Amino acid sequence: MSKCPYHTTTAGSPVADNQNSVTVGQRGPLLMQDWQLIEKLAHQNRERIPERTVHAKGWGAFGTFTLTKDLSEYTRAEVFNGEGKQTKMLARFSTVAGEHGAADAERDVRGFALKFYTAEGNWDLVGNNTPVFFLRDPLKFPDFIHTQKRHPRTNLRSPTAMWDYWSQSPESLHQVTILMSDRGLPTDVRHMNGYGSHTFSFWNKKGERFWVKFHFKTQQGHRYWTNPEGQQKVGESRETTQEDLYYSIEKGDFPKWTVQVQIMPELDAEKTSYNPFDLTKVWPHSEYPPIEIGVLELNKNPENYFAQIEQAAFSPSNVLPGIGFSPDRVLQARIFSYADAHRYRLGTHYENIPVNRPQCPVHHYHKDGPMNVQEHFPNPDAYYEPNSFGGPIANPELKEPPLRLDSNIVDRFDHRQDEGNNDYIQVTALFNLFDEGEKSRLFSNISDAMQGVPKEIIEKQLVHFGRVHPDYEAGVRQALHASGHSSYQQQDGHIEEQNSGHSE
Ligand code: NDP
Repeated sequence: MSKCPYHTTTAGSPVADNQNSVTVGQRGPLLMQDWQLIEKLAHQNRERIPERTVHAKGWGAFGTFTLTKDLSEYTRAEVFNGEGKQTKMLARFSTVAGEHGAADAERDVRGFALKFYTAEGNWDLVGNNTPVFFLRDPLKFPDFIHTQKRHPRTNLRSPTAMWDYWSQSPESLHQVTILMSDRGLPTDVRHMNGYGSHTFSFWNKKGERFWVKFHFKTQQGHRYWTNPEGQQKVGESRETTQEDLYYSIEKGDFPKWTVQVQIMPELDAEKTSYNPFDLTKVWPHSEYPPIEIGVLELNKNPENYFAQIEQAAFSPSNVLPGIGFSPDRVLQARIFSYADAHRYRLGTHYENIPVNRPQCPVHHYHKDGPMNVQEHFPNPDAYYEPNSFGGPIANPELKEPPLRLDSNIVDRFDHRQDEGNNDYIQVTALFNLFDEGEKSRLFSNISDAMQGVPKEIIEKQLVHFGRVHPDYEAGVRQALHASGHSSYQQQDGHIEEQNSGHSE
């Protein structure tokens, strides 16, 4: 007797034959009544869901967050209370622009999305492998993403659109410089850092608020590919990151990240020379030193990629008592747009899907709609609030402390008019950290990315590089000349041999 379970239809009815459809005669046509065939074809037609508009290509795994430093001084969130506490979590990494089937080894920002299954509900930190982003006002986000995706007429990616947008949006310079540096093409996700990027808040049981930034430092070291190496890898395999993550975990080589926070007392936000809620800025380590608080380890591959990674739904709106938001404009918009994207892609009740389901009791009053598989009303009469039938009630002890704001004027404030939003100072600090090899690769990566871009757009961008550092502008000009860009004549100068070193 076979050890396999018997095959059934989705309704559980046993299947007698899964190789031959029902026909009239040996060669004859099919019958509508072959519901087994019809169910199978109908399911195949529905096997795809809308891919994510951004971050479509992803790789993920489950793991553990171990807290090594108690943070109850800053936050009441139980995930951060109690040294040694372990919390199960899920990570999904991704590229931003490529579609679901895009090659892995492409120069792009990597998503670094984490879901912590805590006893107080799911906490999601939906960050990137960079501490900053291309914009500080979410009104620009759809336009920015359009420049990264395909041109409507050619259906090709458009370097002209990218540099046209960037050259007129200098707040992107910090992120563009990181993207074009070695860290813009990591060999895989184990060898890169993660950052919460936004400023969030902690609040403790005394009602005190602190601003906080999260950092995840790779314990594997940084590794990257140069452009020629990346192109070679794509020629060999389009799935280099998936292969690296999956097989590392399968063989027990579990990747780890040291978790750090930077903490700023609430009122300091009024004193810093930079806007601490500007997503194009970091907090200098010298002013707010990173504090080590734990370790993140990925140790379990998904059993089913589609169910557990493609359907994983991360949203910055998932916070806990003790963790809050900040006035960061982009964070505020993401609180809406991420959960909304999941409602569209997965269905209204997407948090009923096992990978998204909190691993703690859930009691709410949302009622019907697609995917509502949870029979969650403990008492069927208590399906509205207030009620007299013992339905779930709010806990006022968990109320967030009030947020102080420095203005009561509503306007479309120009984000470029804020002195704290200077677009160049922090980019100069980064440029000065690069050694000669890193600078040389930065220049040639930019020159590669500018091939085919009209000269007038390149010249606008070169002005911004020059404001960061004269050597930045000169280096890119030299690389453009050396590469034979059609708008820049060949000069005597030469590009230095690409350094194929792999580690910072
Ligand atoms: P610090 O010199 O104290 O910090 C420098 C940090 O820059 C390092 O800790 C490292 O961050 C990161 N870094 C070092 N080398 C590179 C590199 N080749 N490519 C990318 N990042 C690198 O100075 P500041 O804190 O004042 O920061 C200076 C600049 O460093 C910033 O303007 C920003 O561009 C960049 N940076 C700063 C971070 C921060 O949180 N302050 C975080 C990341 C980058 P890490 O340890 O995270 O790898």
